[in-house]
Amino acid sequence: MAEQPHLTVVGAGPAGLAGALAAAERGVRVTLVDAAGRPGGQFFRQPDPALGADRKQTPHHEWRVWKRLRDGLDRHRATGRITHLTDHHVWCAERDPGSTEITVYALAGATQEEGVTVRSDAVLLATGGYERVLPFPGWTLPGVVTAGGAQAMLKGSLVLPGRKIVVAGTGPLLLPVAAGLASAGAQVAALVESASPRALLRRAPVLAAQPGKLAEGAGYAARLLRHGVRVLPRHTVVEAHGTGRLTAVTVASLDRRGRVRPGGAHRIACDTLAVGHGMLPHTDLADTLGCTLSGTDVRVDSEQRTDVPGVWAAGEATGIGGAALALAEGHIAGRSIAARLHGNAPDPCQWAAAARARKRLRTFSAALDSVYAPPPGWTDRVADDTVVCRCEEVTAGDVRTAAGSLGGSDLRTLKLLTRAGMGWCQGRMCAPAVAGLSGCAFTPGRRPFARPVPLGVLATPPGQRLD
Ligand SMILES: Cc1cc2nc3c(=O)[nH]c(=O)nc-3n(C[C@H](O)[C@H](O)[C@H](O)COP(=O)(O)OP(=O)(O)OC[C@H]3O[C@@H](n4cnc5c(N)ncnc54)[C@H](O)[C@@H]3O)c2cc1C
Repeated sequence: MAEQPHLTVVGAGPAGLAGALAAAERGVRVTLVDAAGRPGGQFFRQPDPALGADRKQTPHHEWRVWKRLRDGLDRHRATGRITHLTDHHVWCAERDPGSTEITVYALAGATQEEGVTVRSDAVLLATGGYERVLPFPGWTLPGVVTAGGAQAMLKGSLVLPGRKIVVAGTGPLLLPVAAGLASAGAQVAALVESASPRALLRRAPVLAAQPGKLAEGAGYAARLLRHGVRVLPRHTVVEAHGTGRLTAVTVASLDRRGRVRPGGAHRIACDTLAVGHGMLPHTDLADTLGCTLSGTDVRVDSEQRTDVPGVWAAGEATGIGGAALALAEGHIAGRSIAARLHGNAPDPCQWAAAARARKRLRTFSAALDSVYAPPPGWTDRVADDTVVCRCEEVTAGDVRTAAGSLGGSDLRTLKLLTRAGMGWCQGRMCAPAVAGLSGCAFTPGRRPFARPVPLGVLATPPGQRLD
């Protein structure tokens, strides 16, 4: 091991930043690699500096926490303790045969065609999550965007995706998205949430144990009230309408079993639908490294170690739970890594506060998960001619035929039979929908590369090396 141990952190969101800072403060040299041009990940996404936005014009959460992370990063970058590689997209990571080192391969440059390799003693995977997208008639019309995508446009580019917006789907992300859009001047015609308020009430004792989170939720609700946003719980969007572009959505009320109530549908005019059905963890790199997954999440121990030596994981990659949980996990991972790379057994008492926060927040997010699941009847509302896999233009009817008369009973076979998941996104978007429509289990896709790689990069020896 080098005298000053070297850690690569993939992802500069809350988890990656907390991990990088905790490790750097304890004598570890850190290379922080992120596909984005600025640190912060999704939660602390910053507007492009070229926009010249001041603090008041920036839609932001938890400014003080962000300032502490940003100042820490700047300080360590100035001393050379942290090297931050922005606009570097990691496409593969592997343990070097015959050594304990791990090599991370990234693409950089304006056209993302320059290969960069980073070799280090350990890696922290803090790659976050992505939105679950479920289809419905009309969902491919221009004007339909994901809820997180709408939020990213607002935070990163300070633009609204439209003027009259319906926010719909399910999950706690819908609240900040609707509140953020309304505060920024959009007319939010409705917030359509398929979960029932009763389900929330049933979990009230667990949720009430997190007063900070409840206060955050109440703050968003107050903003919605102030802007006159109509909230439609236990409702869903059954169809998006328009010729060439979205002009309206049909919204229907749901019964207790998640089925549309007869006569319970009405139309809402809008130019944008921001829709989301929860999130899933990014596990490609963990899977390539051979880490065991637990369901859809990277499995970690109490130190945030995966079962592959030298590989830690934190944040949404280990399970969707929000930014505060990501910060706690990142901090624990960074401290554990620093101790282990210096050859010491870490003392968990030193991160007891973060471990308590992690426990509380995991319980809280498990409670939310049980409330915000896509309604069981969603597949019945997807017509046979609805496109499910946009990359390969595979319809719901194609998937049903492959699962029914052709006997496809797992995602891989369905992909071979229909091409769903063979396109550019490699099933990241359509796999949950294909699983739901076919009735087969959703399993994270196994992809040797975390993103498409130019053949030229694969054919040439590793580019610039940063060891
Ligand atoms: C689009 C979107 C919008 C969201 N908006 C909100 C919100 O408004 N409020 C809220 O409470 N929560 C929001 N969330 C949830 C929020 O992301 C998390 O709670 C929190 O940011 C998780 O922190 P993290 O560090 O685990 O992951 P993230 O913040 O997602 O950070 C992961 C980082 O890893 C980088 N990365 C991933 N893969 C690679 C790779 N292969 N190579 C290089 N870099 C990589 C990404 O660029 C990103 O910067 C949003 C999530 C999404 C997906």
